[in-house]
Amino acid sequence: MQVDTELYSGKAKSVFTTDDPDRLILRFRDDTSAFDGEKVEKLARKGIVNNKFNAYIMEQLEKAGIPTHMDRLLTDNETLVKRLTMIPVECVVRNISAGSICKRLGVEEGLELNPPTFEFFLKNDALHDPMINEYHIRSFGWAKDVEVAEMKRLTFMVNDVLRKLFLDAGMLLVDYKLEFGRYHDKIVLGDEFTPDGCRLWDAETRKKLDKDRFRQGMGDVVEAYEEVAQRLGVLID
Ligand code: C5P
Repeated sequence: MQVDTELYSGKAKSVFTTDDPDRLILRFRDDTSAFDGEKVEKLARKGIVNNKFNAYIMEQLEKAGIPTHMDRLLTDNETLVKRLTMIPVECVVRNISAGSICKRLGVEEGLELNPPTFEFFLKNDALHDPMINEYHIRSFGWAKDVEVAEMKRLTFMVNDVLRKLFLDAGMLLVDYKLEFGRYHDKIVLGDEFTPDGCRLWDAETRKKLDKDRFRQGMGDVVEAYEEVAQRLGVLID
């Protein structure tokens, strides 16, 4: 597969066009950012770890019947994906309170949320990804009602699959963010699923094994990501 031009460079990944108009290449970089790009660092090996980890998770989701953009791993830090037309909203499910919901609602971290919550955020860095609801999505035409319903259905399906997958490996899936796009009029999971975009705690000790280690300056960030991968049996190199 021929790498063509860079289409977009995000905070942790770059996206390239290819000689196939229906395929893109995702390059996972070592860059790590938090707080809307205020804190940025390069963490050695993170690109490789996230690329392999993401491929493994996408494969598990496909097996469970969730359509994803994954085509195949290309190199240590690159993956070939279907070219989607992205929907500019982020879908967040929370099983345990942490992060922004604690600040927003004044609740303590670590409360079990039963049933889990679902939130939409607008993907817009300049506005700091504000929280939105289905009426905003409808009124501004970001997605159709059937697409909103499908994104919610698939996001909760992901929760069923991944909660079990992580729990079987001794981890709690605290929360996560998903992004979807359209591929020939079908709603398909895009972007990535890595410890950069979810929260994972050790089920016994509640040790954080995700990007909160970077956000909170706890250190051993990539080491924690590798521990998650190793517990799931994902081969990194
Ligand atoms: O910050 P907040 O608590 O709302 O994040 C919820 C989940 O979504 C976390 O796992 C976080 O890593 C993820 N997230 C993300 N990208 C964003 C916002 C949140 O991956 N822009």
